[in-house]
Amino acid sequence: MKYRIFFIALLIPLTVYSQKKPAKQTMVKVQKTSLSREQEMQLGKEAAAQVEREMDVVKSQEVETWLNQIGQQLAKTPQANAYPYYFKLINEDSINAFALPGGPMFVHTGLIKAADNEGEVAGVLAHEMSHVALRHGAAQMSKQQTWGSIFGAIGALGGALGNGGQCTLWCQAVQMGAGLGGNSMLMKFSRGYERDSDLNGARMMAAAGYNPIELGNFFQKLEAKQGTAGQPKGLEAWFSSHPSPGNRVTYVSEDIQFYPKASYPTSTGNFARVKQTVASLAPPKLKPAALVQQAQGGTPRSDLPQGFKDYRARGFAIVYPASWQAGQPQGSGSLYVIPQGGAKQSQNNGVELLTGAMIDYYVPQSGAATPDAANLDKTTNEFLQSLAKGDSSLKADKPARATVGGKAALRTKLTTKTSNQTDQVVYLYTVPREAGLWYLVLAAAPTQISEFDPVFNQMAQSVTFPEGQN
Ligand SMILES: [Zn+2]
Repeated sequence: MKYRIFFIALLIPLTVYSQKKPAKQTMVKVQKTSLSREQEMQLGKEAAAQVEREMDVVKSQEVETWLNQIGQQLAKTPQANAYPYYFKLINEDSINAFALPGGPMFVHTGLIKAADNEGEVAGVLAHEMSHVALRHGAAQMSKQQTWGSIFGAIGALGGALGNGGQCTLWCQAVQMGAGLGGNSMLMKFSRGYERDSDLNGARMMAAAGYNPIELGNFFQKLEAKQGTAGQPKGLEAWFSSHPSPGNRVTYVSEDIQFYPKASYPTSTGNFARVKQTVASLAPPKLKPAALVQQAQGGTPRSDLPQGFKDYRARGFAIVYPASWQAGQPQGSGSLYVIPQGGAKQSQNNGVELLTGAMIDYYVPQSGAATPDAANLDKTTNEFLQSLAKGDSSLKADKPARATVGGKAALRTKLTTKTSNQTDQVVYLYTVPREAGLWYLVLAAAPTQISEFDPVFNQMAQSVTFPEGQN
C-alpha cells in the first residue's frame, strides 16, 4: 500500500524535483573486462542465435519496428557507448527483457503488457542497454579465471572462430555455466551494477528526450506488485536477475537534478496500437530446445515395462532401461539416453553417441515447409543428406514406413564408423512435428546390435507425444 501512495505522488513531477540535491552527482563507470569489443560482439551474436533456437522470437514487423525506433534513439546517446544494438520481440507472457554483450536485445510480450506508457518501455530498454554499455556481462565473464586460458587458445585459433569445427566463444561460455536464463552470468547482476544501469539508463533517456523518471517508476511499480495477487508472471525471476538496489525512484530523482533543464517530448505515438497488436498475438510456439527439456510436474506414466524408467520431455515421452542415464550435456541441446560409457566428449567439445539413444529435432532449412506427413520422405532425406555431409562413412538403407507415438514415421537403418574407427549400426526414426523433424537415434556396435535390439524396440514403441501438440 505504501508504494501505491508513493507512486501516485510521482505523477506530479514537482514532488520529484523538490527532493534535496546531493552535493555531487554519482559516478558511473564502464567496467574493465579482458574481452575485446569484438569478442563481446561475437559472444552476443552466438548467444542471440541460441535465443532464437530456444524461444519464439516473433516476426511482427510492427512491434519490432517500434522497439527499434525507441532503441535507436537511445543508442545514439553517448551513454550507449556505441554498440550495434538491435531489438527483437519474444512471444512469452512472463515479465522479462534482456540485452546480450555487444548489443542484441530481446523484450518479452509480457513486459509490454505490463507497461502503461512508451516511456516505461524506453526505461527498460535504457536500463538493459546500460548493462551492455557499461560492459557488465563481459566483466562478469572475464572474472572467471578460465577465460585467461580460453582467450589464449582462441587467439591462436584465429579465423577458426565460429566455423563449426571448434568450440565457439558461446560454446565455451556455456561450458563455464553461463547459458541463458535467470541464472546466467551474462544476465544476473549485482545491486551495484543495477544502480549503475539505472543511473546510466536515466541519463540515456534524458539525452534521447524521454522522461528519465519513467525508468524508476516502472521498476518501482513492479516491485510494488511483488507478492500480491496481481503479481505478473515471471516477476520473481525478473527481480532475481535485477535485484533492487534500494529506492530507485529516489536516487533516479536525485540524479535528474544534475541534468540540464529539458522537456521530454520523445514519443512514437504508437504505444496503444502496439499494445493491441501484442495482446492479439497467438500463443507462443514451443521451440525444439524447449521441447527436449524435461517436463515439470504432471503424472508419470504407470504402465512402464519392467526394468524401465520414463523420461518425459515437454514435447514427447520415452522409456529407457533403469540402469541407463538420461540428460542433456551442458544443460541444453540433444537428449542423450545411454548406458555407462555410451557417449564420449568429441574433438569439437560436443558429445559423440557410441551406444544408446539420442533425441532431438531437425529444423529444415529456412523457408522450407513445416514437416508433415506429406513431406516426411523429403524432410527425412534432407536430414540424411545433412548428416552425410558431416560423416563420410555414413551409408543409409532405404527408409521404411513405421509408426511412432501413433504418428506416421520413417525408420532408416544406417551404418557408419565412430571417431575411434569402430563400426556402428544406427536406427534412425523420424516423425514430422510442428517444431521440426523429431528424431530418435539408436546406436550400437554391429557385434552388440542383437543384444540391444529388444531394448531399442521397446524404447521406440514407448514414445508418446502430448495431446494437442502437432
Ligand atoms: Zn538490470
